[in-house]
Parts: sequence; C-alpha cells; structure tokens
Amino acid sequence: MSKHYDLLSIGGGSGGLSAAERAAMYGKKAAVIEMGKMGGTCVNVGCVPKKVMWNAASVAHTLHDAKDYGFDIRFEGFDWAKLVEGREKYIKGINDWYGNYLDDSKIDWIRGEAKFVDAHTLEVNGEQYTADHIVISPGGVPAVPNVDGAEHGITSDGFFALNEQPQRVAVVGSGYIAVELAGLLNALGSEVDLLLRKGHFLGNFDSMLRETLMEEMVNDGVNILPNMSVLKVEKDTKGKLTIHCHGGHVMEGFDQLIWAIGRTPNTANLNLDAAGIEHDAHGFIPTDEYQNTNVTDVYAVGDVIGKSQLTPVAIAAARRLGDRLFNHQPERKLDYENIPTVMFSHPPIGTIGMTEGEARERYGDTVKIYQSRFTAMYHALTDRDSKTAMKLVCVGTEERVVGCHLIGLGVDEMLQGFAVAIKMGATKADFDNTVAIHPTSSEELVTMR
Ligand code: FAD
Ligand code: NDP
Repeated sequence: MSKHYDLLSIGGGSGGLSAAERAAMYGKKAAVIEMGKMGGTCVNVGCVPKKVMWNAASVAHTLHDAKDYGFDIRFEGFDWAKLVEGREKYIKGINDWYGNYLDDSKIDWIRGEAKFVDAHTLEVNGEQYTADHIVISPGGVPAVPNVDGAEHGITSDGFFALNEQPQRVAVVGSGYIAVELAGLLNALGSEVDLLLRKGHFLGNFDSMLRETLMEEMVNDGVNILPNMSVLKVEKDTKGKLTIHCHGGHVMEGFDQLIWAIGRTPNTANLNLDAAGIEHDAHGFIPTDEYQNTNVTDVYAVGDVIGKSQLTPVAIAAARRLGDRLFNHQPERKLDYENIPTVMFSHPPIGTIGMTEGEARERYGDTVKIYQSRFTAMYHALTDRDSKTAMKLVCVGTEERVVGCHLIGLGVDEMLQGFAVAIKMGATKADFDNTVAIHPTSSEELVTMR
C-alpha cells in the first residue's frame, strides 16, 4: 500500500526543503524525496563551496596587499588540498545538520529518484507515495555543449571535485559561474583564460558593471578572450588540452577546461507526461505567479521554473507556497520584481532592479542616472589598483530609484540594506535624507550628485 502525505517535495535542495519545512511547521505530514545529498546544489556544489573558494581568493588578495600596510610577510605557498578538505568538512556539517533537522521536524527523507505515476502519485525505488500536494523542485545540472571532445572538460561540479589546483585553466562561458570561477582561480594563482563566445560577458547586467568588471579582471591577470566559440577539444597523452575555436584559433597546454554555459533543468527523467505536466523545450516547467503548474495540486519552485535561479528565490517561493496552501493565506506569493543579487567576482558585483537600458526603454526621458567611480580607501595604499563604481537609476519627477548597480570592495555586503529601501519604493530624496556613514564606500550612495 502506498504511503500518503499532505505534501511531497521532489528534491532536497533550497526549494524542496523549504516547502516541506513550511508544511511541517503548520502540522502537516511532509516528505522530501532526494536522490543525492541533502541541501541540493547550493550546499553541495553551489553557493556554499563557491563562497569558501571566494573567501580563499580574497585572502590571497589581502596577503598580496599586506606589504603595503607595513606587514613583512613571507608567502610560503598555498595548499589547495587543505582548503578543499576544510570546505568539505564544513559542508558535511551542514549535511548532517539537515539530517537531524528533518528528524526533529518530523519530515521524512525518501532516498531515491522520484518519477510521476499520476498527479498525486510518485514512485521511488519501486515504492509508490501519494500526496495531496506535490512540489517539483529538482533543480538542474550544468550544461555541456555539443562539440567534439566536450567530455575532456569539467563543469562547476567537476571544479568542486578537484583535489589539485589546475595550473592553466580555460573557463568557457559568460555568466555568473564563468566569471566567479575565473576570478577565484586567478586570485589563487592559476593561469586563467576566459573564453566568451560574444564580445562581452554578463549580457543581462548593466553595462557599467560589465565594463568595469572586464577592466578589473584584466588588470588582475585574467586573460579574457572575446568572440571565441569553441569548436573542438583534444586531450594529449600527457593530459593537456588543446582548444580549437571558430576562425582557426587554437590554444594549447591547458590542464583543465571548465564549461560554465548555463544549467539544464533536471526534468527529463521525471515522467512529467504521466501526470500531464507541461514543460518547455528546454525542460523548464512554467508556473503562474502562485507557482501552480498546469496540473491542479502540482507546483514547481526554484531553478526548474527557469527564472532567477538563486537560492533565496527558491526558498522564498517555496515558503510562500507553504503559507498559501496550509496557513489560509490565499494571496501569498513571491514578487519576482526587484530581486537583489550578488556576483562573487573579484571585485564583487551587487545589483538590483532595472539596468539603465531597461529603464530608458520603459520610462524614456524621465530616467535620471547618478553615477560615481572612485578608489575605495583600502586601495589608496595598495599597489593593487581596484576601482569601485556605483550607479543609481531613477525615474519620474519624484526620482524613484528603480535600479542600483554596484561593483567594488564590500558591495556584496552593502546591497541587502539598500535593496530593502528600493523594494519599499525609495526615492533619490530618501537616499539623500539619510545621513552618511563615514568613512565607508557605501556613503557614496547617499551623497551622489
Ligand atoms: P537544487 O538546489 O538544485 O536542488 C534540487 C535537488 O533535487 C538536488 O539535490 C537533486 O539531487 C534533487 N533531485 C533532482 N531530481 C530528482 C528526482 N527526480 N528525485 C529525487 N531528487 C531529485 N545562488 C545564490 O543565491 N547565490 C550563490 O552564490 C550561488 N552560487 C552558485 C554557484 C554555483 C556553482 C551554482 C551551480 C549555483 C549557484 N547558485 C547560487 C544557484 C543556487 O544553487 C540554485 O539557485 C539553488 O540551489 C536552486 O534550488 P532548487 O531547490 O531549485 O534546486
Ligand atoms: P548563466 O545563465 O549565468 O550564464 C551562461 C552564459 O553562458 C549564457 O548566458 C551565455 O552567454 C553563455 N553560453 C551559453 N551557451 C554557450 C556556449 N555553448 N558556449 C559559450 N558560451 C555559452 O549560467 P551559469 O552556468 O553561469 O549559472 C547558472 C545560474 O546559476 C545563474 O544564472 C545564476 O542564476 C546561478 N548562479 C548564481 C550565482 C550567484 O548568485 N552568485 C553564482 C553562480 C550561479 P552569452 O549568450 O552572452 O554568450
């Protein structure tokens, strides 16, 4: 006989766990079906290990700068394996914590791969489980291009499995992961080529961010190669990689190639058709603004819906769904407007709202831009030059702030508070009426002319 739940989540990542957690909080019987490690992408092969590596890269920069602040430091090497060991120990602690937490919250963990039998029934390892509500949150996997020898490259998953530091690396891609991994590998001492298939990276970001980051990464030593579309990858007997690109460009001698070209939703094996659940040609599952799929009582949250693929977005959507289903809040849903995001590049980027281009398209001549570019005080003493740049996009006579774009030291921690203000509809006058905190970089945001 099948076991019945109020809610079943497919996937123990940010979205699935949060939906089950909310259901359990309201006294409902919930289970998470997870075929891999609890915590999903973010914890195991995403945000968490990435941030540890970013922190390590930031330490490398600080060590470089130390002499300019009067420290006499002898640099005696960097132990990649030790860093990886510490990182994985930290992650194991989070995995264990989840196990205990699920027990304490009385949420079942069904281990294995879920497939739909019908809209209320899932099969895992030959067993059937039924539920009043099913949340689809299987996330995605890194995409690999369809080119000869693509298998010689690794993806972000493979990057996190590296026990040795690659000396010469090619990173292929133009989004978050390409920029983050290229930056941190470079800071940790690898020789990095970043191959963009177009003339620029971060296509959806404000041009000021794109251009400033490009300059910063080049100054920091990353070899950025625009208009390089990979045709073929070869591996020689010593394990070195040769990359052939369109236009006859050939590059040799790489220890690793990292594909960072987007992620594919984990829906191919879900047997969605058995329940009549719609998906698009890429496998993403469309939902309405309440996370409803086209099938009653079946919902989708997180990366699988194909918008704002960020952990806090998956969590927020799932929690609101739980509130709606189990706590009499029929209008509760996530507002996907004005989602702040940080790119852990070197230096980091923080951004929320409309780019200047988007605002001009929508609001025309009523757009007013405030910008600032300066050297953060920390870098006044360092030979390593790094700029901070900020842009506020304002609209209308009241100058409502509809976009805030930041790059530079510390902006990763700066944006969250400003995001609250922007979400509340703050105007430039509200920014100006706020007394500055001195001496900081963030004071620039409330003193722009
Ligand atoms: P996931 O976290 O991917 O969880 C899905 C889970 O479902 C997986 O554990 C999978 O094993 C399981 N699963 C899939 N199919 C089945 C099935 N049929 N049966 C059972 N289990 C199944 N976001 C940020 O906000 N900040 C960051 O700094 C950040 N850094 C990132 C760095 C990298 C390298 C990557 C790859 C991603 C990063 N992200 C970051 C994005 C973030 O990790 C995702 O947005 C988030 O994990 C999405 O959550 P999810 O629940 O949709 O899916
Ligand atoms: P992204 O969607 O961010 O970027 C991938 C880019 O790679 C595409 O936009 C495209 O850019 C380029 N690309 C696509 N196909 C090819 C190809 N065949 N060859 C060369 N380039 C190609 O994907 P990522 O994999 O970087 O990250 C996935 C998602 O994970 C992100 O969108 C983000 O939501 C999340 N993430 C969040 C992080 C954070 O919050 N800090 C960190 C890491 C990931 P173009 O068309 O311009 O060439």
